[in-house]
Amino acid sequence: MDIIANFIDGHYQAPVDGGYLDNIESATGLTYGQIPDSDINDVDIAVTAAKKALPQWQAMPLEQRADVLYAIAQEIENRIDELALAEATDNGKPVSLARTIDIPRAAANFKFFAHACSQFASESHAMAGTAINYTLRQPVGIVGCISPWNLPLYLFTWKIAPALAAGNCVIAKPSEVTPKTAALLGEICQKAGLPAGVLNILHGQGAKVGQAICQHKLIKAISFTGGTATGAAIAQMLAPSFKKLSLELGGKNPALIFADCDFEQTVEQVFKASFANQGQICLCASRHYIERPIYEKFKQALIDKAKALQPNDPLLTETQMGAIVSKPHLDKVLNYIEIAKSQGGTILAGGEQVNISGRCQQGYFLQPTIIENLPNDARCNQEEIFGPVITLQVFDSDEEALVLANDSQYGLAATIWSNNLQRTHTLAEQLNTGIVWVNCWLLRDLRTPFGGMNNSGLGREGGLEAMRFFTESKNVCVKY
Ligand code: NAD
Repeated sequence: MDIIANFIDGHYQAPVDGGYLDNIESATGLTYGQIPDSDINDVDIAVTAAKKALPQWQAMPLEQRADVLYAIAQEIENRIDELALAEATDNGKPVSLARTIDIPRAAANFKFFAHACSQFASESHAMAGTAINYTLRQPVGIVGCISPWNLPLYLFTWKIAPALAAGNCVIAKPSEVTPKTAALLGEICQKAGLPAGVLNILHGQGAKVGQAICQHKLIKAISFTGGTATGAAIAQMLAPSFKKLSLELGGKNPALIFADCDFEQTVEQVFKASFANQGQICLCASRHYIERPIYEKFKQALIDKAKALQPNDPLLTETQMGAIVSKPHLDKVLNYIEIAKSQGGTILAGGEQVNISGRCQQGYFLQPTIIENLPNDARCNQEEIFGPVITLQVFDSDEEALVLANDSQYGLAATIWSNNLQRTHTLAEQLNTGIVWVNCWLLRDLRTPFGGMNNSGLGREGGLEAMRFFTESKNVCVKY
């Protein structure tokens, strides 16, 4: 049994009240470990450690702070196999995906922000002949970082790295569903020489320890990634406290596929955008709008690929599609497939749970599922499913595609597949999403703003946006 501990003040500790939660392996459905069921008392101890560490961390010369962050990145790379295995076991994602995407990108987050902290500059505004204003950007202090289960270490470090780079001390909570790589990050930071108390990692339930982090008076900013309903509850809870709040929430991302796209390449990329990580990436395409002249051919190509993709044990290196993260989540996704049927949808591929013999016989596997004949206002076109389920619809003009794509409460990411330059730029301007990819998906430059509009969130992460979020700006006006 793998028993995880909280990482507080530079060492591992059991939760104060001694309570634990089971950690279940998605591919087997079996409990393989336990994690602390932390509460407000653990948050208090972590905040005390962070408060003690803050002056030294803030005073550390930038080059030295950057060196520590580089060392963390290096140590993540040194342990890539162990981390990839832990991620695949916890989350059910193929170990090859964890090894090539999740873990390298976690290391890249630390490298990027190690560099960013020495490049981050502030502004000055001259009032000719009168005064000079300059802006100080000072660390917020102690901040909270709360992350979801779908890209566990990748998203955890996407918050922690800029928070540390900006000179803050951090109280971080990974999802209780996927705690393992976050737990290993404590050891990694110890080895890399991060001073005790600068990063504290607490495990447990959102409504208990997550809420206690959000509400702690000495925690001055919260960076949260997760579901829209949770984000709304946190926003409501924190409104009277005026804490800084960054919310990266759910999505229902449209793919606009035009007849003039590069057909083979688009099929390949759109399929990946639909089913990578079992469709459990907030950026995955879930609503597919296909121009009429290629509708049937494109549909058939997706169906053929879906039928050829068999979920299997995520720990096998050849596996391309792993398990759904948990039983409740599998049930939720299956329920949406039933809703689609009840609203007149036609299941073109998949739609069924998959039973795998051997060690994975009780795991949570689902076929890649493609649905058509649902109107745009059907629940499966409006609500986030967050699984390997996509819908197809036909369109006849750019205007119609735009109206369909923008008919959503969400606004995270869109993809456009076309070789018409004028069309792609025009639509990119008109789509109500925080991110638009043209003829690509998940191509990331860490300097770019990352986040969504409407119910997909508030604020942006990435590059300077993150450095700004994790600092307070102060204007100093000097008259001469
Ligand atoms: P979730 O909202 O259930 O949980 C996210 C995190 O919040 C977990 O660590 C959880 O323990 C914690 N939490 C839950 N209730 C809380 C509360 N009351 N107070 C404080 N913390 C609380 O989300 P999930 O199921 O883990 O993740 C899936 C969701 O995340 C999907 O909606 C997906 O779209 C979204 N997501 C968004 C992005 C993005 O960048 N926009 C990225 C990845 C995932």
